[in-house]
Amino acid sequence: MRRRRSLYRRVYLHGVLLLVVLGVVLSIVGAILGRDSRFRLSPARTAEYVSHLLESVPAEQVPAFLGHAADMLNVDLAVYTADGQRLAAAGRRPPRPLSAENATRLVSGGSTRRDGHLGASARLAPDRYLRLRSRVGEHDMALRALGSLAVVVLVVALVSMPLARAIAHPLEHLSGVARRLGAGDLQARAHLDRNDEIGELAHTFDETAERLGRLLDGQRELLANVSHELRTPLARMRVSLALAAEAPPEDVARHLSAMEGDADELERLVADLLTTSRLDAGGALALQRAPADLGALLEEAVGRLARLHPARVVEREVQAAPPVNVEAGLIARVLDNVLDNAAKYSEPDRPIAVTLRPAEGGVRLTVRDQGIGIALEDHARVFAPFFRGDRSRARGTGGAGLGLSLSKQIVDAHGGRITVDSQPGVGTAVSLWLPA
Ligand code: ADP
Repeated sequence: MRRRRSLYRRVYLHGVLLLVVLGVVLSIVGAILGRDSRFRLSPARTAEYVSHLLESVPAEQVPAFLGHAADMLNVDLAVYTADGQRLAAAGRRPPRPLSAENATRLVSGGSTRRDGHLGASARLAPDRYLRLRSRVGEHDMALRALGSLAVVVLVVALVSMPLARAIAHPLEHLSGVARRLGAGDLQARAHLDRNDEIGELAHTFDETAERLGRLLDGQRELLANVSHELRTPLARMRVSLALAAEAPPEDVARHLSAMEGDADELERLVADLLTTSRLDAGGALALQRAPADLGALLEEAVGRLARLHPARVVEREVQAAPPVNVEAGLIARVLDNVLDNAAKYSEPDRPIAVTLRPAEGGVRLTVRDQGIGIALEDHARVFAPFFRGDRSRARGTGGAGLGLSLSKQIVDAHGGRITVDSQPGVGTAVSLWLPA
């Protein structure tokens, strides 16, 4: 699936947009504050300018000049002698004199000095200096800064709200659906139709929920099938037991033998189920492999078939083939099953043909019968657990429908392949290939 990255793009663009908005807001705040002369004031330069002007002001006009300058510039002013005597002052809280050391340093050397953020001093003459302080307090500045910050935060919050909502809403929805699924509502689906990463997550979530549902359905069906298949021989055994209890002594042996047959069937079924779950859990790792000759395993299986069906002709065409690395007991189970099916689903007078030859780096074994065949629509289903064709049911030839599914599981675990080729009314060929 093409990776959708629109959420990534959206968050990225949002970041860029925030920067732009921040820039604009800060410029506007800056412009508004900048228009206020109190915030434009550079104390040192102002002090230098005022001291420069003072040089040409006659002594008796200095207080008036200072008062005027203080009002104009919105500052408090004072003129001191180098030893700290105040000569003139203006404003509500004129600045106090510098310390003796700083005053000496200013009048003898430098032309100006800064006194904190809002104040400055400037040399007037070798024995005098001017001090100046803006009337805007530190407090005032901090308030302005906080106000600007609040505006910025508000704007950022407003701009971010739609994105936050667009991400949070579907995630809340998803977590709600996940909770419902966890609580056992297997129909819960997100159904989020979005073309972004969250949509992809929701889609994956729905797919997983779907698969989980199918898996659980499969498990339920399997359990029902297993119970059903176990119940049939058990019910028959119970009947035989009841009959044996009331039968005359000469008939008891017959009922016991019927019970033995049912017990055998139960044992086979349970063994098959155990093999299935062993392979389910471990796959290829569950196998205990050893090199084996498939031709020899085939001979043994044909021998077992001959004991069950002495009259059946099995034509063999066996070529020399490399050994296969297999768990012999399991492959014997596959051969028994395929040969047994060929016998079960064809008339007793029809021969069964078996070929074995090396092929594609392994060995191919084919069992061909001339029996009832498998309907085309069932070809894909014969490997499903507990599948039984209609005509095989009609024949009443036993079998729980586990044989081929188990065979496929075994062959798959060995890294091989098993296929069916069949034509109704003509016959069936089951072919298996195992790697050498
Ligand atoms: P069963 O125990 O019913 O034989 P299998 O898993 O071995 O179970 O086979 C599943 C179904 O596949 C059978 O019920 C039957 O319908 C069909 N089938 C298998 N082998 C053959 C065959 N050689 N000829 C016709 N039908 C077959």
